[in-house]
Amino acid sequence: MILYILENGLPLDEVLFYDTGMEFSAIYRNRDRLAIILEQRGIVFTELKPKKAFLYDMLERPVISKKKGSHNGYGWCGGKCRWGTEWKIEALDAYAKDAVEHYVGIAADETPRLKKLQAPKCSPLAQAKMTEADCLVFCRERGWSWIEESPRTESGYIDLYDILDRVSCWCCANKNLRELQNIYYYLPKYWERLLHLQSKLERPMKAYKNKKYGEYGNLWRLNEIFAQERRQRSC
Ligand code: SF4
Repeated sequence: MILYILENGLPLDEVLFYDTGMEFSAIYRNRDRLAIILEQRGIVFTELKPKKAFLYDMLERPVISKKKGSHNGYGWCGGKCRWGTEWKIEALDAYAKDAVEHYVGIAADETPRLKKLQAPKCSPLAQAKMTEADCLVFCRERGWSWIEESPRTESGYIDLYDILDRVSCWCCANKNLRELQNIYYYLPKYWERLLHLQSKLERPMKAYKNKKYGEYGNLWRLNEIFAQERRQRSC
């Protein structure tokens, strides 16, 4: 969205980046690259963070809930339990409360998100009728990518948008099975981190029924399934 705004001369005073602390390295590299471009153009770049570390909220914060009573940590973030998104929106809204116009990077085909948008928030991408796929092409044509190291490719690198539907926090529980399988295979370092989190959390990251695999226990179970599949493929 920022590239589009700059290229089309829309008014832009300040850019906000909310750092969950759980972004892929590629996101931090792109942030740094963008910060330089903004500085050259005299546009303020501001970074916001959650009040407490993401992992504290996930694993340690004392919580009392109707279902589980008193326990520690909100657990996986995603699905109906998107506490990290809540903190993010809260922080961004509070910071931009006096903005005349508050641009939000929502594409034309993200209908449910667009429906919730209220002035002064607006979406330049939707106004330009750019879908998520258009946005990806737009960025790539301008030399932007989301590169991570991968021991599984010949080059030793992979673009996140070649293996994920969307690039959100690496620990996002909204990831689907295909995305998790790709993380397992192409990004084993992130997969290890996910397994580490799963070993600290009782609730499975993914627990839904699938025709092929039946019902998943937790990420450790998925780990076995993915490993077994790989073994079968290499036979
Ligand atoms: S991307 Fe996923 S994990 Fe990150 S804040 Fe949003 S819902 Fe939570």
